[in-house]
Amino acid sequence: MPSPITLSMIGIRKSFGDQEVLKGISLDARQGEVISILGASGSGKSTFLRCINLLETPDEGTVAIGGETIVMKRHRQGHQLPADRRQIDNIRARLGMVFQNFNLWPHMTALQNVIEGPQHVLKRSRKLCVERGEQLLAKVGLYDRRNYYPSQLSGGQQQRVAIARALAMDPEVMLFDEPTSALDPELVGEVLKVMRALAEEGRTMLVVTHEMGFARGVSNRVVFMHQGSIEAQGAPEELFNQHPSERFRQFISSHH
Ligand code: ADP
Ligand code: MG
Repeated sequence: MPSPITLSMIGIRKSFGDQEVLKGISLDARQGEVISILGASGSGKSTFLRCINLLETPDEGTVAIGGETIVMKRHRQGHQLPADRRQIDNIRARLGMVFQNFNLWPHMTALQNVIEGPQHVLKRSRKLCVERGEQLLAKVGLYDRRNYYPSQLSGGQQQRVAIARALAMDPEVMLFDEPTSALDPELVGEVLKVMRALAEEGRTMLVVTHEMGFARGVSNRVVFMHQGSIEAQGAPEELFNQHPSERFRQFISSHH
């Protein structure tokens, strides 16, 4: 039996001014699934991820995660998010987000960055947060750097702290937006290794990436976006070997 659906996006549309950036995107993620989202720059990948955690409000569509469902309809008077604060907080609490530029708090050490959310948002005891935070930093290979500030860490190390910080909130789904794109080439591998380990332990992950090796070798499903629509999707071996879309073929030949 397939595992249950943990995240469901239905018919997501989003325009900025006259430009329709998402043209009705639907995507379900099953528990434990790792989905790579590929596509040229400007195809709407980041906007789609931002619609999942409602950093952007879709004009139309449904976002459903962990028993919380928000249906957005286009209204003549403009777009108001038909959800209360509690619903939005509930949805965000189930999602961990990792950005291209790490976004760590510069005035906090690695450990402080990791425990900030659990301590102040989840209101857990400091002792528990430190214990768990140290475990998570160990998991991403940075226990010995726990008292370093972001400026004292390499980009790859900062991104691993950012992953530990997201995990500290116990999210159901991890969202990654080009987590290795800002890194020097020699630092990409250490971050991909951590992501691969998360995939292997059964984390549900949506990963926007240009790393074809990760998309092919780690994900269960690859989604290829083109100009705000899903142009092709499938298991990586199908998509990469059978090239169902000429555009996908062109895309992968330009990313080798
Ligand atoms: P990708 O992540 O695939 O590169 P984005 O989702 O960032 O694509 O952007 C898709 C399109 O939406 C681009 O043309 C971009 O310029 C536009 N866009 C994204 N965010 C905004 C915004 N806040 N305001 C106006 N246009 C935006
Ligand atoms: Mg982007």
